[in-house]
Amino acid sequence: MIKKQITIAIDGYSACGKSTLAKDLAKKLSFIFIDSGAMYRGVALYCLQNNLFDDDTNPKQVDIIHALKNITLSFQLINDNNCLFLNGKNVEELIRGGEVAAVVSKVARIKEVRMKLVMEQQKMGANGGIVMEGRDIGSVVFPKAELKLFITASQEIRTQRRYLELKSKGIEAKIETISSNLAERDLMDSSRKESPLIQVADAIVLDNSKLTREEQLDFVLDLVRNLV
Ligand code: C5P
Repeated sequence: MIKKQITIAIDGYSACGKSTLAKDLAKKLSFIFIDSGAMYRGVALYCLQNNLFDDDTNPKQVDIIHALKNITLSFQLINDNNCLFLNGKNVEELIRGGEVAAVVSKVARIKEVRMKLVMEQQKMGANGGIVMEGRDIGSVVFPKAELKLFITASQEIRTQRRYLELKSKGIEAKIETISSNLAERDLMDSSRKESPLIQVADAIVLDNSKLTREEQLDFVLDLVRNLV
């Protein structure tokens, strides 16, 4: 359907279906799909595994900045699932758990962490033909993206979706814990100094609270058709 290798940037709050949409779009368009949040989760996991938080789970910033050179992240497609590898090890399951969710936004606030990941993300998208989702994709990573989307959904629906997603992966979590983690991360992500989550002026806002997965995909595919 589409020949031009455009860049599609998707941003929005936690658990509002960005990954699902990005994955569906990339499949339909035969584009690369990158979940940038997985990369921040990978760095957070490395910090947990290497004692880089103090007793109050605050990141040991200087040590983390030092350790960044020892962190290699990559993606590999396994059973149609884009899995994150940390230093050659598949950590896809580990990065989705509550332990990482509780600290990831604290690590994502560190300027040097962001500089490293943004550079890697820009390399991945250098030739276009990419759908990347996260918090700063339209604002910082690909400010010239041909299509920018800002996804929203109600807090209740986002909590429910994340609960079902974790359950389907065999990860047990309480609704209240998920809800407060989402709210905490949203606040931290939108109020931080370094590349906060913002809705850029040229982004198209999509509230998918009442849309099915297919309706959401069709809506965006129409936007893409109008671009190329
Ligand atoms: O998308 P996901 O919920 O997996 O992202 C986990 C966390 O990573 C976010 O809450 C945010 O703190 C951070 N993140 C970010 N910038 C991105 C993607 C994710 O700061 N582009």
